[in-house]
Amino acid sequence: MMDKSAYQNMWVYIEHDGKTVHPVSLELCCEVRKLCDLSGDRLIAVIAGDLAEDEIRRIEDCAIDGIIFVSGTGYERYNTEAYTNLFTVLCGKYRPSAVFVGGTTNGRDFAPRFAARLETGCTSDATEVVYNPETTDIEFIEPAAGGKIMAVITIPELRPQVGTIRPGTFKYAPAGRKEKIDILREEISFNTGDIRTKFLSFCEDEFDPELDIESSPVIICIGNGLSGGEALEQYRELAKLLGGKIACTRPLYDREILPYKLQVGQSGVMIKPKLYIGFGISGAVNHVTGVEADRFIAVNNDPGAPIFNYCDYGIVGDMDQVCQAMIQAIKANG
Ligand SMILES: Cc1cc2nc3c(=O)[nH]c(=O)nc-3n(C[C@H](O)[C@H](O)[C@H](O)COP(=O)(O)OP(=O)(O)OC[C@H]3O[C@@H](n4cnc5c(N)ncnc54)[C@H](O)[C@@H]3O)c2cc1C
Repeated sequence: MMDKSAYQNMWVYIEHDGKTVHPVSLELCCEVRKLCDLSGDRLIAVIAGDLAEDEIRRIEDCAIDGIIFVSGTGYERYNTEAYTNLFTVLCGKYRPSAVFVGGTTNGRDFAPRFAARLETGCTSDATEVVYNPETTDIEFIEPAAGGKIMAVITIPELRPQVGTIRPGTFKYAPAGRKEKIDILREEISFNTGDIRTKFLSFCEDEFDPELDIESSPVIICIGNGLSGGEALEQYRELAKLLGGKIACTRPLYDREILPYKLQVGQSGVMIKPKLYIGFGISGAVNHVTGVEADRFIAVNNDPGAPIFNYCDYGIVGDMDQVCQAMIQAIKANG
């Protein structure tokens, strides 16, 4: 049986491109701070490669207790091998109790790999994390079985507890810089010849503001109740009138009516708008788990639809008719 008390402190992997820290790393620092306050662990940020000074300040502002800076070869650009090796070596040396990694493409790639090398557990895509003082384990909570249940996953016998967390799940609310931040510097060089991928060129995603739903204050979300792509225009008009953007549930992406970047939910984007209006959406946990709205309005022609359990205002009716009525009412009020 492993002596869990020999493993201390919680780590957050800082994902960055040299200039900017990925928002999920800052969100994680803020949330894991709360866990550390309960457990008595220290919150340590792990930064590999070079990162701009003002970005390091932003991490420090999240009330971290320390930073481990890792230098060496292999970290210029993300690659599976060097980052898996880095955390295998570092965890072996310092024995953290938990390692939190943003559930980005890269994070989801290397976190389970180093967990496997350390022969410990890794939970993926948690939407909530809770510290249990009785067991001293972290409870990673996530929707499971097609969203029918919320699964509580723990790693009760092994350490470190590794988990990837969905970007946008936690709020970025920095608690302020601590007076003393311990700095450790490690050099872990990876033989770049052992990296199995080759960097050819870098092509940045073209930024389309219509697809940036995370920052929109108003979201008109369209579900599987939509008859077809030809019925979309009225929802675009409503979104425009309200100063918002349209988004969708997964079936609309599956039906190839709207792009993946507009999908809200567990396997899509997490949104926190002021106003959310959902049309023709049943209310599956996988979808609603991605919505944190100040005002939540649901429109559905089935009065028994689960979405009515989540909303502030529910309208039972045909979605197209209700959309038209809203458009008329807004226009009538100038
Ligand atoms: C691992 C996993 C991850 C997932 N991730 C996501 C995710 O990120 N986002 C996501 O959205 N889903 C996700 N899903 C799918 C999710 O479980 C649901 O299947 C999906 O959210 C259902 O979408 P919907 O409500 O639009 O469709 P449906 O469940 O088909 O509901 C359609 C609703 O429209 C209503 N309706 C029909 N016609 C009309 C009309 N004319 N007027 C008004 N109402 C009408 C119906 O009464 C019904 O309630 C995931 C599933 C799994 C297993």
